Amino acid sequence: MIESEFEERIVTSTFTGPDNDIEESLRPRRIDDYIGQEKVKENLGIYIEAAKSRGESLDHCLLYGPPGLGKTTLAGIIASEMGVNIRITSGPAIEKAGDLAAIITNLQPGDVLFIDEIHRLSRVVEEILYPAMEDYAVDIIIGKGPSARSIRIDLPKFTLIGATTRAGQISSPLRDRFGVMLRLELYTVEELSEIVLRSAGILNIPIERDGASEIAMRSRGTPRIANRLLKRVRDFAQVKGNGVIDKKTARLALSALEIDELGLDNIDRLMLSSIIKNFGGGPVGLETLAATIGEEAVTLEDVYEPYLLQMGFISRTPRGRTATVNAYKHLGIPMTGNEQVTFEV
Ligand code: ADP
Repeated sequence: MIESEFEERIVTSTFTGPDNDIEESLRPRRIDDYIGQEKVKENLGIYIEAAKSRGESLDHCLLYGPPGLGKTTLAGIIASEMGVNIRITSGPAIEKAGDLAAIITNLQPGDVLFIDEIHRLSRVVEEILYPAMEDYAVDIIIGKGPSARSIRIDLPKFTLIGATTRAGQISSPLRDRFGVMLRLELYTVEELSEIVLRSAGILNIPIERDGASEIAMRSRGTPRIANRLLKRVRDFAQVKGNGVIDKKTARLALSALEIDELGLDNIDRLMLSSIIKNFGGGPVGLETLAATIGEEAVTLEDVYEPYLLQMGFISRTPRGRTATVNAYKHLGIPMTGNEQVTFEV
């Protein structure tokens, strides 16, 4: 999604071109290799076992959460645990109703159809999905004008897995047709450390435990970012150190990449300092803030905000975003006493 805007951003949580192949090699294939998200794994494990023991396909699932948290990976794991094939597509890639009809009429019994960014499906395309999900059938119009007629084609039972960064934008008829809704959370530093160590093992990168946790601390709770930072830090370790990622080389590399101790990059800091300096600490509406710093509002909301909220640097109020006391402290900006800040610790 919205890739071009992030090309230069090291902590982007969306795919970037050259890293794609490596990303594939790092993707866990089995549920045991999927670190963290314990609640989601536990629930899914039950649903999968129950469906298998009944000899049925799994109910349609909606996975939601910020980019890079493992939604695509989880869909692949569900398919492999169910012992079925997965077809991967995305909302923006399906332009016409016929495109989707072609995909679903080619599914085999039990297959998983994964639709990333499902909130971006157009209305007409979405309408094909309703009978497909509910009755395992698709209605196709043949001919034109008065002689046009509709024929119904039966589909094999399949599992739709939808992924979205914004559950709130999915229309309710579509949302209601998902039997399972799973929300992925940002990862803890410990979980991210495990992910970094696992990835370093796969890529044969020598790393010490405290080097891994240094990377984990600055990965904004997101595995994709952790993996990406690992690769950049490796470059520094090879050129400036002895090839091993330890705490010292990790710190050196991350500060050269302008990622601070808490994982904020210069765009995060710009967002915070803009709320503070241009809007007296807030509240400021998302659109206004986005225009001020030259980003899109959806990008701020999907990509930047979840982590800043989790870290307690901003809070959402009905009138807009405010910077918290923590944000002033982190940026070293003194408060004037006139701010309407919320006190989060
Ligand atoms: P999303 O679909 O939510 O944007 P992905 O499933 O593409 O995210 O995950 C991005 C990368 O992060 C994957 O290549 C994978 O290596 C890594 N990853 C995600 N979740 C986990 C996890 N729970 N354990 C280990 N690695 C993970």
